[in-house]
Amino acid sequence: MVLPVVAIVGRPNVGKSTLFNRIAGERIAIVEDKPGITRDRIYAQGEWTGKRFHLIDTGGLEFGGEDAFIDHVRHQVELAVDEADVIIFVVDGREGLLPSDEEVATWLHRSDKPVVLAVNKADNRRRREEMYEFYSLGFDEVIPISALHGTGTGDLLDAVVSRFPEGEEELYDEDTIRVSVIGRPNAGKSSLINAILGQERVIVSPIPGTTRDAVDTPLHRDGQDFVLVDTAGIRKRGKVYETTEKYSVLRALRAIERSDVALIVLDGERGIAEQDKRIAGYAHEAGCASIFVVNKWDAVEKDEKTMDRFRREIMNAFSFMNYAPVLFVSAKTGQRVHKILPAVQEVAEQHAMRVSTSVLNQVLMDAMLTTPPPSERGKRLRIRYGTQVSVKPPTIVLFVNDPELAHFSYLRYLENRIREAFGFRGTPLNIRLRKGD
Ligand code: GDP
Ligand code: GDP
Repeated sequence: MVLPVVAIVGRPNVGKSTLFNRIAGERIAIVEDKPGITRDRIYAQGEWTGKRFHLIDTGGLEFGGEDAFIDHVRHQVELAVDEADVIIFVVDGREGLLPSDEEVATWLHRSDKPVVLAVNKADNRRRREEMYEFYSLGFDEVIPISALHGTGTGDLLDAVVSRFPEGEEELYDEDTIRVSVIGRPNAGKSSLINAILGQERVIVSPIPGTTRDAVDTPLHRDGQDFVLVDTAGIRKRGKVYETTEKYSVLRALRAIERSDVALIVLDGERGIAEQDKRIAGYAHEAGCASIFVVNKWDAVEKDEKTMDRFRREIMNAFSFMNYAPVLFVSAKTGQRVHKILPAVQEVAEQHAMRVSTSVLNQVLMDAMLTTPPPSERGKRLRIRYGTQVSVKPPTIVLFVNDPELAHFSYLRYLENRIREAFGFRGTPLNIRLRKGD
């Protein structure tokens, strides 16, 4: 599902990051508990009245280069206007209306994106009464808040979610494999896409009318429809923020949400970076199937051990994604590029695979016989039965006597046994526990 994007803009020190943390707070903490996955503090998922959304604190983006703060704010607004469905414009009620607020308002009025004005630091009634001057900025919704104390943020979020666009229609049929090509700037994503499209066996269809400004590329190969979903690499508009690493994470996130399979492009020349782990972590969490594509293999000095070494490095760095196959390619020379789409097709099939309940239970029983669940203070986990409840990604529910008794390591063991039996290559596997008899 495509989540709406909410961006927070405003000049420095008005309280953007305080508001971000207030809205996102608890969810960030929960997500950071997962091993191997770190959250970027400027992106989070928020939820209000059952509606989920992405939240971006544009103040946390570093653009580098320019010194004037107003340029910095302008880039934030540009990004928000391009990427967000709703913009929260934060001003400081204590300081009152400043010329730079008016400047930001002018930029925002040039776009047709819905804007909700949050007059922050309205910590007491007197301050809340002083907010009327901000109506002169020309926004319909002016909401006094205190990000620090959490007052008014409910009204703010009501106004924000009421402006979400209607759910977007799914453009492609169930059998079309949606692929995103993600990775750091300069890993070679656009070169790879061009290399894939340049292959003679691929037929690129004309781009249908898409919603938003997505530039999806539908293609056809050996009887299978694919679509390369909108990513940073496809269209380079040359905007300042597009070269920032954090922006590339946002684009990756948005593309991943719309994909069945993520091609995680690593730069074979530069090696694995922290940012790669973050991007891969998003694909894993989103339940996409994944393939690691080590690009620029032509430029890597190598002997017969280099590939194995790189593969081991990947397995170490992305230990939570050991299910993902690894391809070594060169967009430049075309080496092994023809292996990408067949690999995509293979992992997409695994991602959509359904296993029979009876065979699954046979596998679970065998696994428990070989290695019984460890006992905990005299109590032992008992798995009554398991069943696959959904696909994309495959999700298995185990009905157990007491979910609290299940250790991470035992679940890991069961997952390995399930994979040995069925494959599920390239796809994450969700195993959920439910109390049941
Ligand atoms: P940003 O630069 O826009 O992200 O601003 P910050 O979130 O870093 O906040 C700037 C300062 O304003 C910090 O010292 C915050 O503690 C303070 N601040 C933020 N929200 C409020 C608020 O609602 N009331 C008061 N009194 N201070 C606030
Ligand atoms: P993107 O930002 O991830 O889309 O990366 P680009 O496709 O724009 O490529 C970044 C740079 O890497 C460009 O200078 C490319 O020419 C170069 N590049 C891309 N693929 C390869 C490759 O397979 N081998 C080599 N040697 N260079 C590559």
